[in-house]
Amino acid sequence: MIDIVDKRDCTGCWGCANICPKSCITMKTDKEGFDYPIVDESTCVKCKKCINVCPILHKEEIENNPVAYACFNKDEEVRTESSSGGIFTLIATNIIKDNGVVFGARFNELFEVEHSYVESVEDIKVFRGSKYVQSKMGYTFTKVKKFLEDGRKVLFSGTPCQIGGLKSFLGKDYKNLICIDIICHGVPSPLAWKKYKNEISSGKKITDVSFRDKTYGWKDYSFRMDFEDGTRYFEKGAENKYIRGFIGDIYLRNSCYQCKFKSLHRLSDLTLADFWGIENINSDMDDGKGTSFVIVNSERGNNIFQQIKEKIELEKANLEEVIKYNMSAVRSSYKNPRREYFFRNINRFKFNKLVEKTFKGSIYSRLKNKIYICMKNLGIR
Ligand SMILES: Cc1cc2nc3c(=O)[nH]c(=O)nc-3n(C[C@H](O)[C@H](O)[C@H](O)COP(=O)(O)OP(=O)(O)OC[C@H]3O[C@@H](n4cnc5c(N)ncnc54)[C@H](O)[C@@H]3O)c2cc1C
Repeated sequence: MIDIVDKRDCTGCWGCANICPKSCITMKTDKEGFDYPIVDESTCVKCKKCINVCPILHKEEIENNPVAYACFNKDEEVRTESSSGGIFTLIATNIIKDNGVVFGARFNELFEVEHSYVESVEDIKVFRGSKYVQSKMGYTFTKVKKFLEDGRKVLFSGTPCQIGGLKSFLGKDYKNLICIDIICHGVPSPLAWKKYKNEISSGKKITDVSFRDKTYGWKDYSFRMDFEDGTRYFEKGAENKYIRGFIGDIYLRNSCYQCKFKSLHRLSDLTLADFWGIENINSDMDDGKGTSFVIVNSERGNNIFQQIKEKIELEKANLEEVIKYNMSAVRSSYKNPRREYFFRNINRFKFNKLVEKTFKGSIYSRLKNKIYICMKNLGIR
């Protein structure tokens, strides 16, 4: 029977809930808005499947030969709607044209983030763009397995821990599965997002949200929320409190502060990320509209990457050099020392004020925060 003693040990992948033969594991949302498993002991048959499937308790280690590229989609419209170079859409399109199924993170009608699947090229757009919220997995792994066993090609995209959870749940290699992960800073709390979203929309119906609007360019990205009445909330990312709280590591999942999936030897076939630092590494590949950093991790990943080559601008890159500008690939985010303050006061203040107060704090915590920022910049724990 799975027992989460320390919350830092659970990524909320839902693998245990998916595998339980007695359906006695429910995922309960805690007061910070993250899902954790709860076992109904009266129906548990102690088969230990939940323990064996846990990607943290039984982490798979692999050695591969990652190859890195700078690239972007030649289709300007898709690239504008995507977070970096629009590579995900090209790969997803190829899978669907091959009668496959694509899984990813999308907004539901309430603009909560959840994992889901699509089977048509037009629908791929629901996955486009980074959503800075932990996506709810639900019974996605069970659905992936069903498609794989029916012989359909499946593309599964998600965070590295979600890929770890899926692989562990499947328990064997399926030749018809392609996995794409991202370099991940960490996943923000769905509760923090709900509070922010509700306050910004203040009762108006939301029709679209972008955490990475490129109106002022890819690097100077903005937050945008559109409403049914034709109005819009728009703010540069550097000033937006939700983005600042995310980058400032205030409301990430506890497991993100000691992520077990930070590595250059990944379980996925392809890794997608922003090519931060491209202006210093290869300025010919930087037109300010978004360049992707792609890591090809496996033979299968290479095969699918070769298939999109005609549709992208592409240059090889030096992995070690690029990582210096994107430490999230190999290093966990630092826990903000005022994280507890944020969650303790989540119902007390308006979101923007709460983030401001969290960053400010008392003289003592301001000093602590300064030390934390210095350590973060110097790369010291
Ligand atoms: C929470 C989060 C943190 C990130 N941190 C970094 C980082 O530190 N450094 C970096 O270089 N890149 C980071 N990225 C990845 C980056 O923002 C882009 O997703 C990546 O460059 C791919 O861009 P694209 O233009 O090819 O495709 P896009 O179309 O923009 O990518 C969409 C893909 O992202 C997936 N996705 C979107 N939101 C989520 C989510 N909440 N959970 C799981 N999957 C999601 C979709 O399923 C789809 O596969 C992060 C993304 C997310 C969601």
